Amino acid sequence: MAQLYPFTDPVAARTHGPTVMMSGEGCCVTDTDGHTYLDAVSGLWCASLGFSNDRLIAAAEGQMRQLPYYHSFMGRSAQPTEQLAAKMASLLPGDLNHVFFGCSGSEAVDTAAKLVRYYWNARGRPNKKRIIARDAAYHGSGIISASLTGMSYCHDGFDLPDVAVLRTGRPSYLHDAKPGETERAFSCRRARELEALIEQAGADTIGAFIGEPVIGSGGVLPPPDGYWEEIQAVLARHDILLIADEIITGFGRTGAWFASEKYGLKPDLMTMAKQLTGAYFPLSALAISDRVHDAIAAGAHDLGTFGHGFTYGGHPVGCAVALEAIAIYEEMDLPAVVMDRSRMLEAALEPLKSNPAVADVRLAGLMAGVELHDKKITAQTLREAETRGVLLRQIGATLAISPPLIVSDEEIAQIVSVLSDSLANATIHKPAGKET
Ligand code: PMP
Repeated sequence: MAQLYPFTDPVAARTHGPTVMMSGEGCCVTDTDGHTYLDAVSGLWCASLGFSNDRLIAAAEGQMRQLPYYHSFMGRSAQPTEQLAAKMASLLPGDLNHVFFGCSGSEAVDTAAKLVRYYWNARGRPNKKRIIARDAAYHGSGIISASLTGMSYCHDGFDLPDVAVLRTGRPSYLHDAKPGETERAFSCRRARELEALIEQAGADTIGAFIGEPVIGSGGVLPPPDGYWEEIQAVLARHDILLIADEIITGFGRTGAWFASEKYGLKPDLMTMAKQLTGAYFPLSALAISDRVHDAIAAGAHDLGTFGHGFTYGGHPVGCAVALEAIAIYEEMDLPAVVMDRSRMLEAALEPLKSNPAVADVRLAGLMAGVELHDKKITAQTLREAETRGVLLRQIGATLAISPPLIVSDEEIAQIVSVLSDSLANATIHKPAGKET
């Protein structure tokens, strides 16, 4: 035993070691015991082009041979890194015309949080430092990104410096709407609560609001009707920046290039990772609007340098892979393909809506959540599906489905039939005892 496993009970891991994967083909992975699984969650919402894309592998190999490493510090850079920055600026919505590269999503979020401070300092408003984040948000595992995360199990035992974070309600219509409240009325109430929080804390102490356009690891929560419109009106009234965390949703996952376009967000900063390289190489990006970039550039000029960066950020191999992934996405007409697959998945999931064990079925492109009434049945269904060769993910009472964007009709049918059979079996053999 050598690893301290992320998001795993270390003591339980001593008796039940992990399922160790050895190879991949299309949307499937095979473990060291020879069992093959259809990975209906793309690893961690990220292997968008499956596990054996020859073009991504060739791009990585070609760049490894050409120039296996270079950085972007102090007046130097690498060719694919420059090309990717230009390509992303052309794809990104609005005036998000600048990018900063890291290796992980957490680095992108930590960078965004630092830039909020830097920006308001440069604008001569140094008290505007706190960031508002939501319950059920997931923003990463760095000191700041974990503080912004809204799950208690990411805070417990870590003594995070959460004084810099203010928390507001999650956009879960199913759980948090009042009886008779419409979706729109619920969104307006969330916006009023946000405004009350800002007024109580003082808008002059708040620099930014961070949100995933569609909450992922907090349970697959697409925004209720009018949500982002109402929230952004409040932020605009109080001169508060918007950070869109598109680490899951960026590059097609919701059926648009960026979920901000689909749900009408106009962010000042936007984080991306995962689908950026199809997860074949660790690479993240923070997109920055002209307004924020120009203030930061002026501030950095006065200070003599922009004192922030990561040794491996914008790694040329990762950037070469990202350029190839984007070329593939453009050739396959990504938004249209994802919406087509999404409609197929939605139709396949439709019968589950009338299953008495099911509380809700939610979809945003190829992010889906099937929420059950009983968490124990969710856990049992997850295990049953795994024994039937389909990997899902449990988030509380919800089963998440986020297959590679190349998932076929037959694979969608397989995912849903295995899920339905597993649920039927789990309901008959309802496990007793403590909730997991
Ligand atoms: N933000 C969101 C929305 C995420 O889903 C994740 C990872 N699941 C992160 C940030 C952190 O990314 P990483 O694990 O690459 O640090």
